[in-house]
Amino acid sequence: MTPIDEEQLQGLKGLRNFLRVRTSYDVLPLSFRLIVLDNDLLIRKSLDILIQNGIVSAPLWDSHQSRFAGLLTATDYINLIQYYCQFPEHIDDVDKFRLSSLRDIEKAIGVLPLETVSVHPTKPLYEACSRMLKSRARRIPLVDIDHETERETVVSVITQYRILKFIAVNTEQHTALLKQTVREIGLGTYKNLATAKMMDSVLEVINLMVVHNISAVPIVDKNNVVLNVFEAVDVIPCIKGGVYEELKSTVGDALSRRPDDFQGIYTCQEDDRLDTIFTTLRQSRVHRLVVIDDNWHLKGMISLSDILKYVLFTGVSSDEGEYFPPP
Ligand code: ATP
Repeated sequence: MTPIDEEQLQGLKGLRNFLRVRTSYDVLPLSFRLIVLDNDLLIRKSLDILIQNGIVSAPLWDSHQSRFAGLLTATDYINLIQYYCQFPEHIDDVDKFRLSSLRDIEKAIGVLPLETVSVHPTKPLYEACSRMLKSRARRIPLVDIDHETERETVVSVITQYRILKFIAVNTEQHTALLKQTVREIGLGTYKNLATAKMMDSVLEVINLMVVHNISAVPIVDKNNVVLNVFEAVDVIPCIKGGVYEELKSTVGDALSRRPDDFQGIYTCQEDDRLDTIFTTLRQSRVHRLVVIDDNWHLKGMISLSDILKYVLFTGVSSDEGEYFPPP
């Protein structure tokens, strides 16, 4: 890794100052919809709702206590699949589970419950980002208090993707200074990469995701040439309608079930500069970058959390600290 140069540091400081003076509200579009699911809903039905609405996560609402009850994400379905594998004798119950049972499923399979971190929408965006990275949450709900009822309301959910898009679109003067390459700054993961083949079963890939605590596995051929990427969200169509048998089907079959508007995978090379990656983020719907060489051999993976961590925490001087100006 090459030491950080002055221009790069200036660019990073510019980005951090921007995140300190903007709030999570600023990231939200003027008009948006928010689908909130009742915690009493059957898990089976929640899958149909996600698919019908083209979304991959939703906040949960406890209508008994009128409280925010956490976020439903692809990880919850992966946990359900783990449960099904560990307790096949309970398969008949799986269809009867409600969203409120997700915490019991976590306990039964022995995974740590995800922290239900949330942030107030008027807090600086920097705070939302660092909370997200410290808790390993990939999305964070914006929870406000309704002054009339004194009760919680979920305003929206912001994701790493939305934040990086917001940065990329609004701070070109700072991102243009980030001229060090992926190799120079050591961005991403290059060792012990988890990979799979087209003929592996979906279940095997899910296990890889759980063991490595990752949300995407590159699919390679026998020469390590990248063919595709299987993402945690690809699990959702596989278990639609409660057909868990489909998990035994191949990755190739599962990938062919992707929606028609699937945007494809994004790649980069180790000699690409960070400013070019921000240009890609500005122009496309990127959720991760697969690092390849000239012949499409797999070299590494760059996740959105790798980029966000680099922006927030690299070369932070004590004068920058974690100071949040009042909103
Ligand atoms: P998301 O991609 O869902 O927004 P994230 O940004 O946390 O979430 P993950 O894919 O879960 O991304 O990556 C977590 C960490 O694991 C990152 O540091 C990333 O470089 C690394 N990583 C990603 N994919 C793989 C893989 N297939 N093998 C090994 N490490 C990986």
